[in-house]
Amino acid sequence: MPRDPRYDILFEPVRIGPVTAPNRFYQTPHATGFGWQRPQSGAALRGVKAEGGWGVVCTEYCSIHPTSDDSPYAFLTLWDDDDIAPLALTADAIHAHGSLAGIELWHGGAHASNRMTRLPGIAPDVQPALYHLPTTARAMDKADLRAFRGWQRDAALRAKRAGFDIVYVYAGHDYLPFQFLSRRTNHRGDAYGGSLENRARLLREMIEDTKDAVGDTCAVAVRLAVDELHGPEGITSEGEGREIIELLAELPDLWDVNVAGALGNDSRSARFSGEGFQEENVALVKSLTTKPVVSVGRFTSPDRMVAQIRRGVQDFIGAARPSIADPFLPQKIREGREDEIRECIGCNICRAANNEAVGLRCTQNPTMGEEWRRGWHPERIAVYPRREKALVIGGGPAGLEAALTLGRRGLEVALAEAADAFGGRLLREATLPGLATWMRIRDWRLHMIGKLANVALYPASRMGAADVAEFGADHVVLATGSVWRRDGVGVYSMRAGAFPAALTPDDVFAGAKVAGPVVIYDDEHYFMAGALAEKLAVAGHEVHYVTTAAVASSWTVLTNEQDFLQARLIEAGVAIHPLKALKSQEVGEVTLGCVYTGRVAPLPCGTLILCTGRLPDNALADALAEQGTQATRIGDCLAPSSIADAVHSAHRFARILGEPDLPPRRERAPERSL
Ligand code: ADP
Ligand code: SF4
Repeated sequence: MPRDPRYDILFEPVRIGPVTAPNRFYQTPHATGFGWQRPQSGAALRGVKAEGGWGVVCTEYCSIHPTSDDSPYAFLTLWDDDDIAPLALTADAIHAHGSLAGIELWHGGAHASNRMTRLPGIAPDVQPALYHLPTTARAMDKADLRAFRGWQRDAALRAKRAGFDIVYVYAGHDYLPFQFLSRRTNHRGDAYGGSLENRARLLREMIEDTKDAVGDTCAVAVRLAVDELHGPEGITSEGEGREIIELLAELPDLWDVNVAGALGNDSRSARFSGEGFQEENVALVKSLTTKPVVSVGRFTSPDRMVAQIRRGVQDFIGAARPSIADPFLPQKIREGREDEIRECIGCNICRAANNEAVGLRCTQNPTMGEEWRRGWHPERIAVYPRREKALVIGGGPAGLEAALTLGRRGLEVALAEAADAFGGRLLREATLPGLATWMRIRDWRLHMIGKLANVALYPASRMGAADVAEFGADHVVLATGSVWRRDGVGVYSMRAGAFPAALTPDDVFAGAKVAGPVVIYDDEHYFMAGALAEKLAVAGHEVHYVTTAAVASSWTVLTNEQDFLQARLIEAGVAIHPLKALKSQEVGEVTLGCVYTGRVAPLPCGTLILCTGRLPDNALADALAEQGTQATRIGDCLAPSSIADAVHSAHRFARILGEPDLPPRRERAPERSL
C-alpha cells in the first residue's frame, strides 16, 4: 500500500543544529534495564528501533562520573575511555539504518545513592539522599562545580568519539542540574543560588561547555522538566519553567520537554493519564523558542501525530513506550500499513522492568529486550519447515499470541474459544476503571490473524478431550487460563482456609450480588484488588480494602502507579487497612490479624472478595493426559502471571517450535573493541 499523503509531514527531515534527522519520529531516552553491564543487548534493541524507522534513537541515562551511580539499576557510563567501545556498538547499530544516535548524559546529584562506587553524593546543598540509603549528599563547593563541568565535557567528548550525533544535557527528573534550578533543593547563597538566573547558571554553563566540546558535529539537546508538579513551591510552567526557557531559549539545538520532578510523572500509565497529556507545557516551550521541540505523549495514531505537528505543538513525535510496543511504527505508517501498528496499552510493565533491574519487557511486544539474548525480531520469524496442523485452545492473550505466531510461521492453525468472544481475561479486566486500552492486546492480534488465510477462528467452541482427539492436530496447545483461588492462599497466607461465603473476582465479573460493607482482601498485590475497590466505591458501595502489604496494590510501585492509585482510592472513599491478614469469615464480619503481632480484630463485612492467588485451569490438560493426548500448556494455564508473561510464554512456544529450547545468551565479554 502506498503511504497516505496526509502523513507525508511525518517523514520530513528536521535539522537539529549541525545534524539532520531523516524524519520526525524521535525515540526519546528510555531505560532498558541493560545499562553498562549489557552493551550488546542495548545495542541490538536500539538497532531494531532504527530499523523500524525511528529517525532519532536515544540511549537511556548515561552517567558522567562515579559520583552518579544508580546501582543496582541499569544505567550507562562514560566514566573513562574504556566506556567508549561498548557504547559505539549502540551508535553503530543505530547508524546502520540511517538514523541519528542520541545519548542522555546524566548526573543524579542527591538522587544517586552510589551503592557500587561508595562515593559520597553531591548536591547543591547538604541534603538527605533522595533514595534508598540513610545517607547525605554533600554540598558542592567551587572546586566541585569546576570538576563537575569538566566531567560533562569529558563525557561529551567520549560520546562524540563513540559516534553519537546528539548529546544531552539532562535537567529533568530531579537530577543534579534540576536540583540547582529548583528553589526546593537549591538554598545556596553564592552565584549558583538565589535568583533564577543564578540557579540556572550551572545549566547554562553545561550547555555552553557541551557545545564548545562537541557542538561542531553534535547537536546539544536539553531535557527539561518545565513543571515539577510541586505547585508554587517548585518550578511551574506558568512561573519559573517559562522563565528558564526564556533565559535559555536559543542556546541548545533542541528542547526535550516534560512535566516531571520525579520519574514516573511523564510516563504515567493509561489509568492515570490520557495520550498527549503534557501538550500544554510542550506547546508553551515551542512558543518560546525557534529550536526544534520534542516530547512524549504515548502517541500511537498517525492522525494525532500529524495534528501535533500541524498545530505547532512540537516538531518531532517523541516516543518511548509506543516505540517499545511497536519498534516498526514509523515504517508501518511509511508503507501505508498503519492498521498494523501494535499500540501501547499504557500498562507500564516496561517501567517495572527497569525498577526491578532486569531487561526491558513489554506486554504488547514479546520480542522487546530479546533482540540480542534470544535473537528475536519483532517483524521477522522463521517459517516452520512443514505444513502441520496446530490446535490452540483458549482465546485469551496467550492463545491469540500463539495462534498468530504459529500462523506467521506457516502452520495450519485453528483457535478454539469456549466463550462467544475472544479475549479471555481481557473481556473482564478491561472493564475495570482506566483499563479499557488493555483490549488492544486482543484487538491487534485478532486484526493480524484476520490477514492470515491459514488461521481459522472458532468462537463458542468449548473443547473436551474427545473433541481434541477427533480434531487430530499435530500440535495441541492449551491456553485455557486460570481462575482466582477461593481458599485464601496468597503471597502472605500459604495455608488454605475455608471461606465458603466469599466471592472471587471471577464471581464479581460474572455478576454475583455484592451487598453490605464490601471487604476486598488483597494478598496478590498487583492491580486487581485496587481496581475492584475503585470500581465498587464509585458504584456507591462502602468498600474496605484490606492488604497484607503496607500500601495498596503494592507491586504497582514498580509500574510507577502506586502513588496515583492510593490517592485515587482515598479520594473514592475506600477505607484502607494495611498490614492485616484475613483470618476467618463469620456472619456479618471478618476477622483480621496484624501481620506483625498477630493481634486480631473484627471488621463488619457484608461481602468478602478474595484477591489472592490464581490456579491454572487444567481441566482439559488433565483429561488429555488421561486420554494419552500430548499437549503443551502456555500462559496462565501453565503458570498464572501477568498478561505480559502469558504473551511471552505463548510467543516463545510458537517461535521455537521445532527448534532446541536454549537458555538466553548472557553477556560475558565484549565482542568488539575500538
Ligand atoms: P491467558 O492469559 O493465559 O491467555 P485467559 O484466562 O485470558 O488466559 O484465557 C483463557 C481462555 O481459555 C478463556 O477465554 C477461556 O474461555 C478459554 N477456555 C478455557 N477452557 C477451554 C476449553 N476447554 N475450550 C475452549 N476454550 C477454553
Ligand atoms: Fe506500552 Fe505496556 Fe508495552 Fe510499556 S509494557 S510499552 S506501557 S504496552
